[in-house]
Amino acid sequence: MALSILIAVLIIACPCALGIATPAAIMIGASKGAQNGILVKSGEFLEKARKIQTVVFDKTGTLTKGKPAVTDIIPLAISYDESKILQLAAIAEKGSEHPIGEAITGKAGTLGILLPQGKLHQTTAGKGIQAQYQGRKILVGNRTFMKEKEIAVTAVAEAKITKLEKEGKTAVMVATGNRLIGAIAVADTLKESSKAAVAELQKTGREIIMITGDNERTALAIAYKLGIKRVLANTLPGEKARKIKQLQEEGKTVAMVGDGINDAPALAQADVGIAIGAGTDIAKETGGIVLMRDDLRDVAAAIELSRKTVAKMKQNLFWAFFYNIALIPVAAGALYPFTGILLNPIFAAIAMASSSITVVGNSLLLNKHNPRK
Ligand SMILES: [Mg+2]
Repeated sequence: MALSILIAVLIIACPCALGIATPAAIMIGASKGAQNGILVKSGEFLEKARKIQTVVFDKTGTLTKGKPAVTDIIPLAISYDESKILQLAAIAEKGSEHPIGEAITGKAGTLGILLPQGKLHQTTAGKGIQAQYQGRKILVGNRTFMKEKEIAVTAVAEAKITKLEKEGKTAVMVATGNRLIGAIAVADTLKESSKAAVAELQKTGREIIMITGDNERTALAIAYKLGIKRVLANTLPGEKARKIKQLQEEGKTVAMVGDGINDAPALAQADVGIAIGAGTDIAKETGGIVLMRDDLRDVAAAIELSRKTVAKMKQNLFWAFFYNIALIPVAAGALYPFTGILLNPIFAAIAMASSSITVVGNSLLLNKHNPRK
C-alpha cells in the first residue's frame, strides 16, 4: 500500500504539464503569427510585445513608401534653369543609393537628360553629397551641409525652401561654383496602412513617436497627416539608438519600427525591434519581429497576439498547477481516513495525461484568434 501511494504521488507530482505550459502557448502563438505574416524570432519578444507603451516609427520606408519622387525644381540663380539644375544635381547624385539621390537621377532619366560622369563623389551621411564636374564642385544637400560648405542662402531662397517644407516635401539645395543655384523638392508618399495603424495603436492608449533625419517642418507636415503628436526630427542615423535609450530611461517599454540599415542599432536597443519585411536585410536580421506583409497595422496585431499568447500561458499554468494541487493530497491519502479512497497509480497516470492534454488543448484554442480583425 505504501509503495502504491508513493508511485501515485510521484506520478501526480511529475510536473510535465507545468513544463509544457509556456512553450506550448508560445509555439502556437508564434505559428499563428507566422501564418499571418508576423514572424516572431523568439518567445521573449512574443512575451514582451504586449507591454509596449511607446511605438517609435522610422519615417522613410516605414510610414512612407520610401520611394520619393521629385515634385518641384526651383531656380535660385540667373542662367540656371530647371533642367540645368536637375542635371548638375543628378551628376553629383549619380550612383547614390540614397532615396533622394535616386529620385533626382530617376527624374533626370525620365526627362532624357544626359548624365556625364562626375568625379570624387563624397557623401556626408544625413547631410549631403559633393562631387567634382568640369573642374567645379557640385554640392547637393540640406541647410547644415550648405552651412558647413560656406554657401550663402539668401532670404528669398530660404523663403522658397521653407514653403516647400511646409508642404511636407524635403528640399535639397544645389550649389556650384560656391553659389546656390537652385532647390529640388522631393516628396514621399504615405503607405496606405500608415494612418489606420497609428490610429489603432493610439486607441489602445499607446504613445506614437516618429523619428527621422528630416528637418522639423517636413517631419511635422507628415506627422500631422498621420495624427502623430510627438516627432524626433533632425535625428542623424547614428543617434536613433540613443533616442530610444532616452525613452527607455523615462521608464517606458519601447518598440522601434524600422526598415533601414540606419535603424538596425535602434531596433537592437528597443525592447521590441520590429522590422519591415520589405526593408533591408540587416534590419530584418536585428528585429525581434518581422512584418512580412509590409502592412503597419500588423504592429497592433503583433501586440494583440502577444497579449493573447501570454493570457494562454497563464491559463496553462493555472491548469498545470490545478491538477497537481488538487491531486497530490489525494494521492498521498488525504481522503483515506474519511472515505477510504486512495488514488490508484493508473488513475494518477490518467489524471496527469489529462492535465497535459488540457494544457495542449487550451494552447490550440489560440488558433481561433485572428490577429487581423
Ligand atoms: Mg527608413
